[in-house]
Amino acid sequence: MLDSNFFHYTGTTLCCDEVSLEELATTFGTPLFVTSRRSLIDSYQIFELAFKLLPHFTCYSVKANYNLSVIRTLSELGCGCDVNSGGELYRALQAGVSPEKIIFAGVGKRADEIVYALQSEVLMLKAESLSELRAIDRIAGELGKRAAVAIRINPNVTAETHPYITTGDSKEKFGIDELELPSVFSLFSQLPNLKLVGLDMHIGSQIFDPEFYLAATVKLLAIFKASKELGFAIEFLDIGGGFPVTYDPLKPATPIECFAEKLIPMLLPLGVKVIFEPGRYLVANASVLLTRILYKKSNHTGKQFFVVDAGMTELIRPALYQSHHEVQSVTFHDETVVADVVGPICESSDFFARHRAIPQAEEGELLAVMSSGAYAAVMSSNYNGRLRPAEVMVNGSEVKLVRKRETLEQLVQNERL
Ligand SMILES: *Cc1c(COP(=O)(O)O)cnc(C)c1O
Repeated sequence: MLDSNFFHYTGTTLCCDEVSLEELATTFGTPLFVTSRRSLIDSYQIFELAFKLLPHFTCYSVKANYNLSVIRTLSELGCGCDVNSGGELYRALQAGVSPEKIIFAGVGKRADEIVYALQSEVLMLKAESLSELRAIDRIAGELGKRAAVAIRINPNVTAETHPYITTGDSKEKFGIDELELPSVFSLFSQLPNLKLVGLDMHIGSQIFDPEFYLAATVKLLAIFKASKELGFAIEFLDIGGGFPVTYDPLKPATPIECFAEKLIPMLLPLGVKVIFEPGRYLVANASVLLTRILYKKSNHTGKQFFVVDAGMTELIRPALYQSHHEVQSVTFHDETVVADVVGPICESSDFFARHRAIPQAEEGELLAVMSSGAYAAVMSSNYNGRLRPAEVMVNGSEVKLVRKRETLEQLVQNERL
């Protein structure tokens, strides 16, 4: 069981803060994402406390959970945003984040997205190639602007995590290769509409070992030093995101303080502002996916299945990354049964748990798929004609519908016969 102050049993009923999940399912239907506002605030405060001694700016990586109310909750606390596309920039602005707190990133920015970012006057754009630097320079020139840019460096550090979420390795598409840096630095003299303000990296996601950050930071610092000798006045060093969370109580994440302990002594003496871009860390454990058991069945091998009304269309992480999510029953059961929890989608990879001890809940009861706040709702799709689920945010005893369930009309509204 995943212990949390924000999702806990009151009597025999699983609650979010002071609200019973049973009640939420009755009111809003299932599948339903339930987010604890207090959990978001708590995670942000723990992160800020850990890095308190270091002058820094935390930019929430919007792609982890782009719900407007999630962005708003974090930005009200002073957090900025790291956005990855025109769409995410639009979301951050709609949520009320001020542009000087937004960093515009992305490995393949289109010209219209660069225009949008420059016209919105974001804090900086992060560039990932020489060609992109030229493109930003040209567009900034056309708009009569001087663009603040950071360059994203590929530090060639292979962080131990799932291969689909390692990003700081030379095999991957992200960032500018170290060997290209001399050309990048000399290119700036030909790009009058750019101002180099930052150096950036992001080595991957769900990284348990602080040593990977240290190895990459050592490289970033060497580049920082070289840039200084070339006369660049770098204001920001961006360490990226990737800080880990606990999905499986048997594999607890390294506490954020362990990262801070190692990073602060390296970064503090530099006298620059450090940027962090946590995504998962701030949101993963703030939400659960609430789903109803439709059917239970078994086969001749004795294998048991719980067929539920949510699937990979709402939470694709198990299918995509073989990731673990705890599954709890909303009504507490002492007894468990070894079973697979599967969704209704026509794919064999459509499961939440395989061969796992699941609470002995009956058909019609509710299950909560825990830790569903990051890379869950944002990856939901209409595959199999599914309607994207509703999302609610709980604050103490208050409940707010922060995303309505999609309708059948919305499913076809952009199509023409
Ligand atoms: C995805 C991403 C992040 C956030 O990663 P988490 O593992 O969710 O913290 C930060 N920075 C960049 C550039 C990213 O692509």
